[in-house]
Amino acid sequence: MKRTLLTRYLSTLAFLLALVAAPLPLGAPAYARPPQTARRSTATATAPQTAVATAAAQSQLVSRVLANGLEVIVLEDHSIPLVSLELAVKNGSYTEPPELNGLSHLYEHMFFKANKAVLEGADYLKTLDQLGVLSNASTREEIVNYYSHTTSPNLRVAMVAMRDSARYPLFHERQFEQERQAVLAELDRHESNPYGFLSLELNNRLFYKYPSRKNPGGNRETVTSATTDVMRLIQSRYYIPNNAALIVTGDAKAEEVFKFAQELFGDWRKGEDPFVKYPMVEHPPLEKSEGIVIKQPVNNIILNVGWHGPSIGKDNAATYAADVFSFILRQPDSRFQRALVDTGLVTAVDFNYYTQRNVGPIQVLAQTTPDKARAAMRAIYKEIASFNDPAYYTDEQLETAKALLEADDLYSREKLTDYTHTLGFWWASTGLDYFRGYLGNLRRTSRADINRYITTYIQGKPHVGLVLLSEESQRQAQLTPQDLIGEGAK
Ligand SMILES: [Zn+2]
Repeated sequence: MKRTLLTRYLSTLAFLLALVAAPLPLGAPAYARPPQTARRSTATATAPQTAVATAAAQSQLVSRVLANGLEVIVLEDHSIPLVSLELAVKNGSYTEPPELNGLSHLYEHMFFKANKAVLEGADYLKTLDQLGVLSNASTREEIVNYYSHTTSPNLRVAMVAMRDSARYPLFHERQFEQERQAVLAELDRHESNPYGFLSLELNNRLFYKYPSRKNPGGNRETVTSATTDVMRLIQSRYYIPNNAALIVTGDAKAEEVFKFAQELFGDWRKGEDPFVKYPMVEHPPLEKSEGIVIKQPVNNIILNVGWHGPSIGKDNAATYAADVFSFILRQPDSRFQRALVDTGLVTAVDFNYYTQRNVGPIQVLAQTTPDKARAAMRAIYKEIASFNDPAYYTDEQLETAKALLEADDLYSREKLTDYTHTLGFWWASTGLDYFRGYLGNLRRTSRADINRYITTYIQGKPHVGLVLLSEESQRQAQLTPQDLIGEGAK
């Protein structure tokens, strides 16, 4: 999936699908997938026009790396007197062995708690609330981000507050206990959601050797036994300038942001690159396909098929092809939608790739009913088998998908508070250069690139097929594990 989201889900199932497609970032208010704006662009922008607009928009994105490695990114937009500030940190479940699983998230909860400024009785603390500085945070697989929104005259004080939180936490025991309980309650809520359960199940099967690395929530045991010393360990490994980015969007002048950043963060001590000292794991490929029937008290039937997709840094070309191809399939007039939705076999279906540095999953999600479940599953596999047929999509559909993807990116910039998270997400998983070159690379994506993506990652590749349904639905649907991997009786 691509950075802005592209959610053209036309059905009311959108939210549900989004929930299943990627676990909710923990602690965040409202977004369920990589930062996204759920805008529906009906634009029929032609590629050349979009390209011109894009060039203009991208020219406003400037960045500078401080001597200690902190990357400072600014996107100016002076249309309203608001600024968004985000600190993105490369932490999250991809850095977590089983014994630390879920603790990036617990750390996130401690971030805005007591710090040195409290000890020193810093003046700004008295006025922070009155200044309208609103803060929040979230934890995902490959990023933990902290953000504040405020009016532009308060940018500096928001940056001071961010500095104190990032660099001088105290980890008070009493606050730590409170947050431990808050996190445990959050885990309970997550696990009692059947769709959270499905998503966990898919990740556990796809990433069977190192499941903790794909589960930002972690588990009750690690959270229950965590100590403030472990918080300090995480701080020393990951909360260092060369593992973080400071992002400012909105009504701020880039030069001023760089000046403040140097002043407030310039003497933050650089540390050892945590990804050299504690490298990412190598998720081994699936050896064979596996189908699992999961029974939960749900009304509808959710079908979910997952594969290992490309990784940033290993096969970037396939990530662009993945985004374009997903987008083609998502269009209401695509052959995929017509074969599955228009025939009534499913009520909604989505095909997506979740961009990640360490093996982004590809998945199909569909909602159906007991009487149609087996036929729907067969039809999904029939479509997959046809993905590389020359007639599967037209040249026009390919070009339209690219133009619409670009248009979505531009529209998503209208809501800068969300776009700040988008920048953070891409900085952490792909780096800013990937982000800068993204639209150009999309435009260059050819049919041959898409073919290669499909043959390398999808067709004939081991995969995991899941169904989530009730006991009663299964009595009627009679889905077998073989059906779920496309090898059931016809
Ligand atoms: Zn949380």
